[in-house]
Amino acid sequence: MTKDSQRLALDNRLGRQGMAAEEVLRALRGVVPNPAFLHEPEFAGRERAYILDCIDTGWVSSVGAYVDRFERDLAAFTGSPFAVATTNGTAALHLCLHLLGVRAGDEVIIPALTFVATANAVAYTGATCHFADIDATTLGIDAGQLEHALREVARVERGVCFNRQTGRPIRALVCVHTFGHPADLDALKAVCAPWGIALVEDAAESLGSYYKGKHTGTLAPLAALSFNGNKIITTGGGGAILTQDAELARRAKHLSTTAKVPHRWEYVHDEIGFNYRLPNINAALGCAQLEQIERFLADKRNLATRYASAFAHVHGVRLFTEANFARSNYWLNALLLEDAADLPPLLEACAAAGYGARPAWRLLHRLAMYKECPRMDLRTAEDVAARLINLPSSAVLGRK
Ligand SMILES: *Cc1c(COP(=O)(O)O)cnc(C)c1O
Repeated sequence: MTKDSQRLALDNRLGRQGMAAEEVLRALRGVVPNPAFLHEPEFAGRERAYILDCIDTGWVSSVGAYVDRFERDLAAFTGSPFAVATTNGTAALHLCLHLLGVRAGDEVIIPALTFVATANAVAYTGATCHFADIDATTLGIDAGQLEHALREVARVERGVCFNRQTGRPIRALVCVHTFGHPADLDALKAVCAPWGIALVEDAAESLGSYYKGKHTGTLAPLAALSFNGNKIITTGGGGAILTQDAELARRAKHLSTTAKVPHRWEYVHDEIGFNYRLPNINAALGCAQLEQIERFLADKRNLATRYASAFAHVHGVRLFTEANFARSNYWLNALLLEDAADLPPLLEACAAAGYGARPAWRLLHRLAMYKECPRMDLRTAEDVAARLINLPSSAVLGRK
């Protein structure tokens, strides 16, 4: 290429990029006319009444009727036999891994594309993360690639899966339902089972999302939910463990309350527990929020539908939509750009116009503290992360 033709090619690209950002912004404005945050909570129900009730009765802390009710309501909504409320989603995930027996020296497979909390929960147990690639149709771990990678590096010895390269046992796999979109759980289960790898669902983003008709978080023995301020419903900060196993539920509750043996006055703890129990005042907020979840979900689905049609005619972009086996809560809408070079100018344009849009999380193997972790070929995660932008997704933006 001559200097001039190089410059021409560059000018063309810049020109086209500018067009793309402008066009995307125009389509975004068509759906969301005014500046908007990425995700905002909404308190339009009985939040105030329930919280005042906690204050008036004095039951604000780790014991109270709202915690019990919130757990019952969560179990009923998700169809999970048991729900145990925790201080946050990270704590729930940490406890899930601890309950499965994940300890220092183990390895846990997690996707490279997820919020940092998934990796942190693994690190809290003393185990090492092992990063897996994602599937472009679900944004969850790619079962086919996983199987291929396990065949390359793993071996089973007396029922335990070992990483031959590190010598460490691969104890568990945490699948993430990214932005609310269910991972392909049947495929992941089929890969994990013969290797003896336990499955945990990080359902922090997927309250109200279903896999083949079943609520996410009810398909693995243990799952974690989050009720952080930016999630589908919020308790301020909060989380929960879902399980079908009465004994695991009992252990989760015991360990999350400092492993205190129930007694009217004695303080006896029978193992090293955690202070992970959700306070009653947070649960009160959760009860009021859960009463409104069907409306939040309907609004969010409506917003996703509007985005999908607004972007259908914009060249070079596509709204990420649910897989055919899934019903997504559309927690965060994600737009995929054909050309990664369009992402920086689009982020600029959105920020300048006051829209809370953001790129995918920095891939975990690119964070300083996780860069030495073992990993599989991560080409799809790299590709998707370079081309993805999350758009404002609060339920209120989709209200009819
Ligand atoms: C939010 C989130 C968590 C952690 O939940 P917190 O309540 O913020 O601790 C874990 N995993 C994923 C994928 C999340 O989005």
